Amino acid sequence: MALIVQKFGGTSVGTVERIEQVAEKVKKFREGGDDIVVVVSAMSGETNRLIDLAKQISDQPVPRELDVMVSTGEQVTIALLAMALIKRGVPAVSYTGNQVRILTDSAHNKARILQIDDQKIRADLKAGRVVVVAGFQGVDEHGNITTLGRGGSDTTGVALAAALKADECQIYTDVDGVYTTDPRVVPQARRLDKITFEEMLEMASLGSKVLQIRSVEFAGKYNVPLRVLHSFQEGPGTLITLDEEESMEQPIISGIAFNRDEAKLTIRGVPDIPGVAFKILGPISAANIEVDMIVQNVAHDNTTDFTFTVHRNDYQNAQRVLEQTASEIGAREVIGDTKIAKVSIVGVGMRSHAGVASRMFEALAKETINIQMISTSEIKVSVVIEEKYLELAVRALHTAFELDAPTRQGE
Ligand code: ADP
Ligand code: ASP
Ligand code: MG
Repeated sequence: MALIVQKFGGTSVGTVERIEQVAEKVKKFREGGDDIVVVVSAMSGETNRLIDLAKQISDQPVPRELDVMVSTGEQVTIALLAMALIKRGVPAVSYTGNQVRILTDSAHNKARILQIDDQKIRADLKAGRVVVVAGFQGVDEHGNITTLGRGGSDTTGVALAAALKADECQIYTDVDGVYTTDPRVVPQARRLDKITFEEMLEMASLGSKVLQIRSVEFAGKYNVPLRVLHSFQEGPGTLITLDEEESMEQPIISGIAFNRDEAKLTIRGVPDIPGVAFKILGPISAANIEVDMIVQNVAHDNTTDFTFTVHRNDYQNAQRVLEQTASEIGAREVIGDTKIAKVSIVGVGMRSHAGVASRMFEALAKETINIQMISTSEIKVSVVIEEKYLELAVRALHTAFELDAPTRQGE
């Protein structure tokens, strides 16, 4: 008999009918003899609806109160699912994060899980009950409700699986696994049988929202067997694995991630003297703004240009800070661009293959897509391009790296 944690995302519990379907599925597993803990998200669209409500009161809602409100979405779905299970003769009980006691830090809207009390859940499992836990939420040491950031139910699922030493954490969603890239953008994308934690972490960090980044970090750290599956279609899904050797067919790259959330800022005509990077980025970091890619040009005329990217939400703030710095250090001007996108190729196979980046640049050049910034690591190459070319770039790279699914005859 296995212990399985099953997490169902927003679209999978988006209607009462779907919740009934999920209950049927859980019932089958239960009848197979496994112990089941289910984590659910809010109904799809609900978290956005709640955030919009808050924004009607204030542009920047008080984080603590926002958490009190957005956590209600999951409270509805846990109760509905427990009711649907009980209706089917499956003993079940629902718990909020506070009731389980999923203890987090106090960073409202982006809290981190510190500890999970597994006693209540274990007692219920022992008594033959399915335990349904609210995703995305926890409680801090003072009893304040916290939430884990968008997509946080994935992290609840993985953290519970780690705390309970579950045999597997299954993430059920509206795609049948992790694909070479978002199948909504590239219809030829292929499902991967396996992907390493390291690659999945890069994919998630670089914009693939199929799994929340923290859930992958957690799964890697605690070695939680993690699988992404379709909620309502049969299939093996994608296994996230530790083992590079085991990872699929060892292609050079495993996937392509992209991200429209960044914006670019350039400070021009900066005096080329030691300490200038610190003078520019110090105030940005002091304003709590995270910087992603950075490029500094070679100086001529004793001045240089310095470009970096930030999250689009931080753009205006960063621009203000940078204007101030520019006047202090005597830079010529500050220019910015919010219509950019980042495209990244990811794969552990890159370690053993030279020329991966140039193959990427060649594919983009063939489509006359201009590369504005580049950054590389051992297992990824990222470029910043004009946003309007994003889909074209992703498709071109998908083909160039031979990731396209074979077309069926007649297509
Ligand atoms: P849930 O509500 O179940 O948490 P999400 O919307 O958070 O679902 O994640 C599933 C979505 O992630 C898919 O519908 C798909 O469009 C998107 N996605 C982005 N990149 C990938 C990828 N590489 N593989 C699979 N899905 C991806
Ligand atoms: N309901 C939350 C969100 O929409 C958490 C989740 O779905 O994982 O972000
Ligand atoms: Mg999600």
